[in-house]
Amino acid sequence: MVAFTDPTLELDVRLLDASDRCDRCSARAVVETAMHGGSSLVWCGHHYGQFADALSGMGAVILIDQREL
Ligand SMILES: [Zn+2]
Repeated sequence: MVAFTDPTLELDVRLLDASDRCDRCSARAVVETAMHGGSSLVWCGHHYGQFADALSGMGAVILIDQREL
């Protein structure tokens, strides 16, 4: 008999909040990207704009984009 895990754990949609800080400048992060290797980086709007082309060139995937909030 397999015990089911708490379904609320599976539904945890993460959002960036004030404790998430840009990996470049420690401003509040609004974008999270993931690389092929599975590592993720978070960005403020300023630095995401600066690195967006390089990130997409490396195949990074946007996990969270809260720039409109
Ligand atoms: Zn930044």
